[in-house]
Amino acid sequence: MNVDCKQSDLAVYRTELKVFLPEKIFDAHIHLFDGSCLPQGYEFPSKDCCLKFGGQFTLENCLEYIRTMLPEQDFYLNSFGYPSPEFSLDASAQYTGSISDNKQYFGMALVSPHDSIASVQNRITANRLIGYKPYLNFVDWKKKDEITIFDMLPAEQMEYANTNGLAVTLHIPRPARLADPVNQQQMVELCRRYPDAKIIFAHIGRAYYLQNVIGYLDGIAGCPNAYIDTAMVNHEGVLEYAFNKFPRERILFGSDAPIAMLRGKSVEINNQYAYLMGEDYQIGNAIYDAGHTVEFTLFYYEQLRAVKLAADRAKLSSAEVENIFFGNAFRLFSQIAAKLKYI
Ligand SMILES: [Zn+2]
Repeated sequence: MNVDCKQSDLAVYRTELKVFLPEKIFDAHIHLFDGSCLPQGYEFPSKDCCLKFGGQFTLENCLEYIRTMLPEQDFYLNSFGYPSPEFSLDASAQYTGSISDNKQYFGMALVSPHDSIASVQNRITANRLIGYKPYLNFVDWKKKDEITIFDMLPAEQMEYANTNGLAVTLHIPRPARLADPVNQQQMVELCRRYPDAKIIFAHIGRAYYLQNVIGYLDGIAGCPNAYIDTAMVNHEGVLEYAFNKFPRERILFGSDAPIAMLRGKSVEINNQYAYLMGEDYQIGNAIYDAGHTVEFTLFYYEQLRAVKLAADRAKLSSAEVENIFFGNAFRLFSQIAAKLKYI
């Protein structure tokens, strides 16, 4: 795998980010997987972003990128596999376990609502993982737009997470995402019904433009076991709002690598968002700049730029910045690992 990070990209690090970033970074949202997680002979669709990385994104691949992109940072992470229904969830959990030391690298299992509680439990304990991540693709009995949080997270799995104090990273469903009234109600209900589970709402509830976040963090802000991660949020206004309206000690930096290693930027357009792409991979709402009108850098740097701008506007102290980048996630995941007697 080639690390696609040029001198012009590194200039972003040197001139804009280096003085801002703390020494340690904990990325709480990374997808890592190797060939063992895929079915034999699997062919990725022609514009699948995994093809950029040779069809896998291992811990070594990720660290190669990070050593180039963030040459002066100590890097910690929480990873899970690639949430595709074609991938093996057991093999993914085994791979995640094989690279997790519960000191610097932590991991979660991918789970489907069809999985028996015994198989979920085995995936987690046998591989010494600190929690799990459901995904809406695994809910196959409903139209995508009608899926609810409780479809993704059966009660039995949540009771298991609650009893053991596990973390659950949740990518919320439904077209209106954070602003959806069913989500709003179920997000709070989930946190209250399972107070010892740590619920991490990924991508700030997938709110990538301002109108999607304003007024919609109050419910979960009041739940002490609710966290948000910033994965793929490029919008400084959304981040600034979160820094002002959500308890800062429960905000975790995350990137969504390997997607974050593509060239592009998520932009707000007329109360919607799109991924303007510098390379022709099909992710979410992608618009490819085929004429190369602008020169893109990596989403990862765009995310860091946005956090920097938002931190400045929300007047975060340097201790708060360090906690969002490192301390909050490190404490959370280390405490879970200690409780599970992994360390
Ligand atoms: Zn993700």
